[in-house]
Amino acid sequence: MAFQLHDNIQFVPGVGPKRAKLLNKLGVKTVKDLLFYFPRDYLSKISDKRIADLKINDMASVKGRITGFDTKGSRFQKQQFRVFISDGTGYITLMWFRPTSWLIKQFEIGKEIIILGKIQYYYNKLCVIHPDFEIVQDKEKKSFWVEQDILPLYPLTEGISNKILRKIVGNVLSQKLLLDETLPEYIRQTQQLLPLNEALHKIHIPDSDEDISASRKRFVFEELFFLELMLARKKVNWHKASGYSMELKKTYTTKLKKLLPFTLTNAQKRVLNEIVEDMRSPHQMNRLLQGDVGSGKTIISIFAMLLAIENGFQAAIMAPTEILATQHYFSLKEFLENFGLRVELLLGGVYAGKEDIKAAIESGEVDIVIGTHSLIQKDVNFHKLGMIVIDEQHRFGVMQRLSFTQKGQTPDKLIMSATPIPRSLALTVYGDLDVSVIDELPPFKKEIYTNWISSDKKSQVYNFITKQLDMGRQVYIVCPLVEESEKPIRQLADATNTYKELQSTVFKKYNVGLLHGRMHNQEKDDIMHAFKEHKIDVLVSTTVIEVGIDVSNATIMMIEHAERFGLSQLHQLRGRVGRGAHKSYCVLVAYEPVSEDALIRLNTMKETNDGFRISEVDLELRGPGEFFGTKQSGLPAFRIANIVRDRPVLEDARKLSFEIIQNDYNLDDERNRELKEKYKKYYLKREKLFSY
Ligand code: ADP
Ligand code: MG
Repeated sequence: MAFQLHDNIQFVPGVGPKRAKLLNKLGVKTVKDLLFYFPRDYLSKISDKRIADLKINDMASVKGRITGFDTKGSRFQKQQFRVFISDGTGYITLMWFRPTSWLIKQFEIGKEIIILGKIQYYYNKLCVIHPDFEIVQDKEKKSFWVEQDILPLYPLTEGISNKILRKIVGNVLSQKLLLDETLPEYIRQTQQLLPLNEALHKIHIPDSDEDISASRKRFVFEELFFLELMLARKKVNWHKASGYSMELKKTYTTKLKKLLPFTLTNAQKRVLNEIVEDMRSPHQMNRLLQGDVGSGKTIISIFAMLLAIENGFQAAIMAPTEILATQHYFSLKEFLENFGLRVELLLGGVYAGKEDIKAAIESGEVDIVIGTHSLIQKDVNFHKLGMIVIDEQHRFGVMQRLSFTQKGQTPDKLIMSATPIPRSLALTVYGDLDVSVIDELPPFKKEIYTNWISSDKKSQVYNFITKQLDMGRQVYIVCPLVEESEKPIRQLADATNTYKELQSTVFKKYNVGLLHGRMHNQEKDDIMHAFKEHKIDVLVSTTVIEVGIDVSNATIMMIEHAERFGLSQLHQLRGRVGRGAHKSYCVLVAYEPVSEDALIRLNTMKETNDGFRISEVDLELRGPGEFFGTKQSGLPAFRIANIVRDRPVLEDARKLSFEIIQNDYNLDDERNRELKEKYKKYYLKREKLFSY
């Protein structure tokens, strides 16, 4: 039966309407979609280890015979299904939780089986939980896949097994449908990439590990390359986009320089020059400002805003939380009212006076507005917005950035990240922006001495804290949750209880305060103010204090259940201390069980204060999708590339694509013909969506 690339997948032999529906769920609608439905991994029939040689944490493929199986627990509880296999040198247990009857049905004593998975210990036995597996077919049922040594493993959905997918993929590939090449010969040559059709065949039906890596490389390169082409075009566009030309009037900015109690670091001076150059030029600034916690980004953004204001514009700061917006507001107001400038705060919801502030923003009476995403509401109109600072920006989604931009006419934009951004993300998520990096800390900044301890040694920490308190210092104690969790297994330290307990026991002599996200804004402000003014010695808090808060007399950051926090979060929290002249400390309290990843996080914190290093480790542990904490980060969904693992390919793809766009923006050159076709078809539209 013949079918074409763009035919509905339903017409491929072995599919039919029912399976077509399931395949649609996987995003496979046409024959071509199926060809680009890549395996997530491979299972090798040539097992690399005997059971007797396996070690814990090995990723291993093992071949053996099924010697038995059983099911434990009722259907409504957490049911366990176990399969026992042996290869003559030892036994291993395969384990599934909540097995489906379809799964159980497949096992038969005496059959040969190949498994792939991570070797673990469970109740003193070697075990693999939820392994990939393949039951070896009877010899007489010889088929194409029975002959293959390497089997592809696909992302699945209930009702579509690897066997089914392999059969369908085999049927499609046997038709030898040819796709048009999408990468020009000269690129394939210089980058050593397989031709498209060969790569498509090999990625599904590899004969060797080399086939797997070569075909994978082709698609990884292609995916990253087209993304970078798009970013290169966007960047060129930003540079062409007309904006305001500001002039150095030296009124407010010079005054600020005189008022500063310190001199800028060389890195700050360099970065400020880069920003000023952008603002003077007639194009719109789109610049990412990054630097470690405490490197002094905020003061740089104030310079930029004052430059806009002395040119007759308004400026705005968008912060990720109300508490941070409020904090910015108070520190800026105090500071800038000396300049005769009007600074206002705009929060969400309805409250007294809000309408008046909005009117003053619209009439131009307000010089600087600080807010959360409340700033991008439809009914907020600026008189003449010339400069936007988007603070701690990785908490906002792309769409939020987009609508914020539309508020002003063509404002300059400065995007500030809370923590350093790993290079792979700077090249992708922020790949169209100009980047300024403050890679130097103010001179007084000292390392924050960091250690982690097990929860049973907490009393030692309290003794240490008491000493610091008696020296006149202040302390943060961070707890992860506000109230006792409904689930007793998740016995997290509870801020409210911790507060009550500490207040009445170890820190009875001191003033203990409580701060959490469910308090009203006014209450939160009052507490933060009291802490700043040293009316509170020990502040027990949830992670609401994570960003921006600046109390230089606080010298200890103690984090309860530190094993549950992500690395950048820990680093952010640690950055709340070490902001003054005194030596500062960060104590991470860990509760059993501490997972492998958690141990890496705790040790990384102990070993380094370098935010750039920490963010790289964080990205490695969590993967790009989770790195931002939210999925709505604007990171494009990659089909095959992993920007951390494939970083060298990413660098190559970026270099080449930027060279090409520099010389041939519209890809009109004959040798870029293939690129132009694919770009027009798939990327031109995305170019508009993927926007700031
Ligand atoms: P970031 O926003 O990068 O985390 P901040 O701008 O909040 O850092 O700066 C941290 C602290 O260091 C602030 O109290 C700030 O006033 C101070 N600071 C900034 N730049 C300098 C400098 N060049 N010398 C001394 N102190 C500085
Ligand atoms: Mg900051």
